[in-house]
Amino acid sequence: MTRVFVGLGANIGARERSIRSAAGLIGARRLSSLRETEPWGVLDQPPFLNAAAELETELGVRELLDRLLAIERQLGRIRDARRWGPRTIDLDLLLYGSETIDVPGLTVPHPRLHERRFVLEPLVELEPELVVPGRGSVSALLAELQSSP
Ligand code: ATP
Ligand code: CA
Ligand code: CA
Repeated sequence: MTRVFVGLGANIGARERSIRSAAGLIGARRLSSLRETEPWGVLDQPPFLNAAAELETELGVRELLDRLLAIERQLGRIRDARRWGPRTIDLDLLLYGSETIDVPGLTVPHPRLHERRFVLEPLVELEPELVVPGRGSVSALLAELQSSP
């Protein structure tokens, strides 16, 4: 079994329902509180609800990513060409045990995890001592982010 953390986000439709449904479908053992956050990257879109979930899985990392992408489609996500555009649900594979993976289409830990408050805050809520391989604990990373200009 591998312990996994997934980041959940939604900014169109019934945001809370989508996040709670996704948490159920991925088999989350714990779900953080849901927080509203301003868009990141592309600013002219509705605010997001964000959360993080913890789960245990028997799936390999690639199978797990494929499963997350399938659940996004099941919950009505339509991908368009616009990067960081609006979506009914976004499931990012943040951490897969303590593994570091970098192959085409799959990077773990999620490459932008450490620079996003809306990802670090729910992770700190779930487990302050959680370590991001190569970067340190989520609480230290959040403190660094808060002290930078
Ligand atoms: P960001 O990755 O900056 O949060 P995003 O979530 O909007 O942006 P998407 O359009 O959802 O990006 O994902 C683009 C592709 O990223 C996915 O099709 C997937 O193959 C790839 N990808 C690579 N690593 C990961 C990961 N750790 N979790 C989820 N997707 C990943
Ligand atoms: Ca994302
Ligand atoms: Ca994504």
